[in-house]
Amino acid sequence: MQKIFIVEDDPSIVESLKTALRQDFRVTSAMNFRAVKQEIEEFEADLVLMDLGLPYYNGLFWTRELRKDSQVPVIFISSSSDEMNQVSAMEYGADDFVVKPFSLTILKAKIRALLRRTAVSRLEFAGFVLEDSKLADVELSASENRILTALFKAQGEVVSKEALLHLLWQTDEFIDANTLAVKMSRLKKKLSSVHFDDHIQTKRGEGYALV
Ligand code: CA
Repeated sequence: MQKIFIVEDDPSIVESLKTALRQDFRVTSAMNFRAVKQEIEEFEADLVLMDLGLPYYNGLFWTRELRKDSQVPVIFISSSSDEMNQVSAMEYGADDFVVKPFSLTILKAKIRALLRRTAVSRLEFAGFVLEDSKLADVELSASENRILTALFKAQGEVVSKEALLHLLWQTDEFIDANTLAVKMSRLKKKLSSVHFDDHIQTKRGEGYALV
């Protein structure tokens, strides 16, 4: 499940957002308004909903702080139709905005659009490209794509079985160590058509790594 972090100091708005988003996302909200950036990083948010008016520092400040080392998508929540605030938000690195009172349906559509746009990633290993759930023209299932994305990101380091199982549970699939082994050998077989199978090495008792 993708993770959304809410930076908003009005508890009633936080609650309504959580209620609306909880069915589809893991949602949490800022607790310490002096350490918003740290909380977002620790949660490993996939997307941030950012209010403008906050205690201590405003939403523009936190957006600029985030942008120093993160490309996490930010949707700004502006309390007025003040165009200047919206322009500033975009200039500070926000990706989109909604104006209070906003429609939850529209907000959800914006969240989905933004997550789709930023989900496109391109990873490379040994001249092979993993992109759009495809490895060298081989179409991957969601779980295969998760496995390979983790292996590509590790770039030759071992990815533990536990880490892979954890990733697969996020796709709501029941899987244990044995079924993981079966899944991996199926995946290798599938990738033998493009000669990638030999690049996936089983590290006995540890996990898997690309070679
Ligand atoms: Ca506020």
